[in-house]
Amino acid sequence: MVHNNKWSIIDFEKCIPFICDPISGECSAVRACSKELLIQEEPGEMPMLLSQAFCVGCGKCVAACNLQAIYIERGI
Ligand code: SF4
Ligand code: SF4
Repeated sequence: MVHNNKWSIIDFEKCIPFICDPISGECSAVRACSKELLIQEEPGEMPMLLSQAFCVGCGKCVAACNLQAIYIERGI
């Protein structure tokens, strides 16, 4: 089995949904993840990564986040 050695980390100190989208509070990173691994239970709430194991570290969510609140972690 192949394990991904890159995954996204959300920095909850920087993530403020109603600052990056004052109108809807919707997380643009959630929409950017084609694997649907990021979820936001309600607009205005911080997103969560559903599975580190399935995240491929593609960085689409990083690029979509207006507040630089997501980064890619690399394992060994
Ligand atoms: S790095 Fe890619 S696969 Fe992982 S959560 Fe972000 S957009 Fe999805
Ligand atoms: S786009 Fe970034 S700052 Fe905005 S809610 Fe999503 S993770 Fe948080």
